Amino acid sequence: MTRAVFASHNAHKRDEVWAVLAPLLPAWTSADIASAKDFDVPPPVEDGVTFAENALVKARAVCAATGLPAIADDSGISVHVMGGAPGIFSALWAGEHGKDDDNLRLLLAQLVDIPDEHRGAAFVCAAALVLPDGTEVVREGRMEGRIARERAGAGGFGYDPIFVPDGYEVTAGELTPAQKNAISHRGKAFTALAGDLGAL
Ligand code: IMP
Repeated sequence: MTRAVFASHNAHKRDEVWAVLAPLLPAWTSADIASAKDFDVPPPVEDGVTFAENALVKARAVCAATGLPAIADDSGISVHVMGGAPGIFSALWAGEHGKDDDNLRLLLAQLVDIPDEHRGAAFVCAAALVLPDGTEVVREGRMEGRIARERAGAGGFGYDPIFVPDGYEVTAGELTPAQKNAISHRGKAFTALAGDLGAL
């Protein structure tokens, strides 16, 4: 039985989110969360200017198209010395949506002269739930850290290989999925949203 539809077409993200939700929603199975792909919902134009707004844009589109509760997230990396960029532009920082390798290389190049003490950054995630009755909830999570000088690790996705979480000497790309979920922006946002999903 489908209880909710997850708006993202990014399989890696869906896996991360389900790994976080599964222990918190023992009455749910992964089949309870369908993918927007199964419903052929085209991705909406993300015209919000914050992570929260864009998460809501995605969840509203899926809820309207399916008539079911919809879950979405919007996330990115925010580098302090860059005034919070790439921020909501993280996925298309090098020009084209979703070119993880190009995005990561451009960010390293932009920071090449910046010393270690000014390489602070955070991953940010807004997790949204939109219900057919119009109820809307957004929960946010952050993971603080810094941008490494070179990439390391093959795990995770996106900017993981160049992000060193606070308290670690390795990148998020070198963490196991469980280690990353325990401290990640997405882990925190969806842990909070699990409380709202549990009430469905
Ligand atoms: P979204 O799919 O619109 O939320 O775009 C998120 C973008 O931010 C992705 O393409 C990644 O580049 C980056 N990002 C978000 N979360 C993570 C993460 O957990 N690890 C690495 N990169 C991330």
